[in-house]
Amino acid sequence: MTAVTRFAPSPTGYLHLGHAFSAWNAWIRARTFGARTVGGRFLLRLEDIDPQRCRPDYAAAIEEDLAWLGIDWDGPVRVQSRHLDEYQAALDTLQQQGLLYPCFCTRADIQREVATAASAPHGPDGAPLYAGTCRRLSPAQRAERIAAGERFALRLDMQAALRPGLSFHEEHEGRIPCHPERFGDVVLGRKDVPASYHLCVTHDDALQGVALVTRGADLKPATDLHRLLQVLMGWPEPAYAHHHLLTDASGRRLAKRDGAATLRALRTAGVAAADIIERFSRDPGRSAAASHLSIA
Ligand code: GLU
Repeated sequence: MTAVTRFAPSPTGYLHLGHAFSAWNAWIRARTFGARTVGGRFLLRLEDIDPQRCRPDYAAAIEEDLAWLGIDWDGPVRVQSRHLDEYQAALDTLQQQGLLYPCFCTRADIQREVATAASAPHGPDGAPLYAGTCRRLSPAQRAERIAAGERFALRLDMQAALRPGLSFHEEHEGRIPCHPERFGDVVLGRKDVPASYHLCVTHDDALQGVALVTRGADLKPATDLHRLLQVLMGWPEPAYAHHHLLTDASGRRLAKRDGAATLRALRTAGVAAADIIERFSRDPGRSAAASHLSIA
C-alpha cells in the first residue's frame, strides 16, 4: 500500500502549528501504514501565484521549518509561479470548450453591485457570488473592451460547466455529493496572473499523481469545485481526507496572524520538534472534532 500525498502551503507568512499538523498528516500517510513503514511519496508544493502576498523569505522558511520538524519530502519542490504557462494552457482548454468568459469588473464594481442588490447570495468561502454582469456581454462588446486594453479575469460559466451527479471520495466517509454551483461563476484566471488557487491546485494534484489529498477541513467545500474541474479537464480523481483544524486554548482556530504559534517562535522559546510531533501522533483520530492544543 503506497500513497502519494502532498503539503501545499502558500508562502504568505511563517508556518504555525496548524500548518505543521497538516504537513505531518500528509507526511505520515505517505511514510507509514498502520505500524508499518511504507514507501509512499510525500511532495512539497509552494502555492505562490499571488505576487502581492507571497515572499521568497517565507518560502525558504517553510523548507527550514519542515526540516526542523523532521518532515522530509521527495523530489524537487514544485513552485507554482514558475509554471504559469501550464496553467494558461489549462485555461485555453476550458476556453475551447466555451466554459470561460472575460470579466472586466473591478472589485469596486462588484462591491457596488452587492450593495445595491436586493439580496446577494454568498459562496462557501464567504465571498458574494458574482452576479454575472460580464457573462451577458455580447461577443462584439467583449472584443471591443479587450481591444481597448481593459484588463480582465477569466470566469467559469458555472451553468454551462455543471455536470449532474458529481461526488468525491472522502476517506472514511465514502462518496459525498458535490455542489459546485454554490461557487457561482468563480474566477479561474486572475487579472494579474493566468491562474487561480482552484485551477492550480487541481492541475498540480493531477500532474504530480497525488492520490490522496490531505488538508484542513476549511478546504472541504472547495473540493466540490475541484471535482468539477477534474471532470472538465479529464484529470484523475484523488481521494480526500480533511483533517480537523487545531485551535488554541480559547477554542479559536490557529491563524497566521497569531505570531506566537509559529514554529519559529516555538523553536526560539525552546520547544522541541520531537514534542510537537509526539503531540500530533497522540491527536485523537486526526479527523475527530477539534482538539485543543496548549504549548505553554
Ligand atoms: N495553498 C493552500 C493553502 O495554503 C492549500 C491548498 C490545498 O491543500 O489544497 O491554504
